[in-house]
Amino acid sequence: MCFETLLFDLDDTLYSSTSGIWEAIGDRMVDYMVTKLAIPESSAPAERERLFHTHGTTMRGLVAEYKIDEVDFLEYVHDISIDEYLSPNPAVRKMLETFPQRKVIFTNADTGHAIRVLKTLGVEDQFEQIIDIRSIKPWCKPQPEAFGKALKLAGIQNPAKCVMIDDSLRNLITAHELGLFTIQVGEKDVIPPVDAAILTIEELASVLIQSQKSYKGD
Ligand SMILES: [Mg+2]
Repeated sequence: MCFETLLFDLDDTLYSSTSGIWEAIGDRMVDYMVTKLAIPESSAPAERERLFHTHGTTMRGLVAEYKIDEVDFLEYVHDISIDEYLSPNPAVRKMLETFPQRKVIFTNADTGHAIRVLKTLGVEDQFEQIIDIRSIKPWCKPQPEAFGKALKLAGIQNPAKCVMIDDSLRNLITAHELGLFTIQVGEKDVIPPVDAAILTIEELASVLIQSQKSYKGD
């Protein structure tokens, strides 16, 4: 079995979950709900949680229940200085350069944010495609329809030759059900049904080589 395509989540996958970016974006989401939708500051964080769990992402929830404009929302919440949180990562760049597979970003964020993150990490040119929240509309990860659309957009015929690398267990569960090989970032131990686990993205090369050798999906 040879893996042909590597699908990478972006946030908390290509960089550490301790970077503070997700918290900063989360704060902007709450801020948006308070200032633009007049949701009380005291209940906005809980409302955000509820929307996230009900609809897959906060944005999808706000579109469905509050009829917000998604472009306006995405611009607002991603208006943070990425370089305050991230810096170039030459080690990851070097590792990505060694992979012969096609590398594609598949994220619930938007392309503008993805490009800013990739540029700051110094790996933007390593990815041939970005599949973002707008390209999988009206779905989002972990919905199977979102994966179906992403596989189509990436031109993937055989999901078994595709690897999904993500920090989110719920995203990986769907990917696994659809036949992709799954690697969770940010976990020391493998949580079934996920196929492999790495603590940081820097460990990807070794687990990928090992998995490719032992993978029985052929
Ligand atoms: Mg993530």
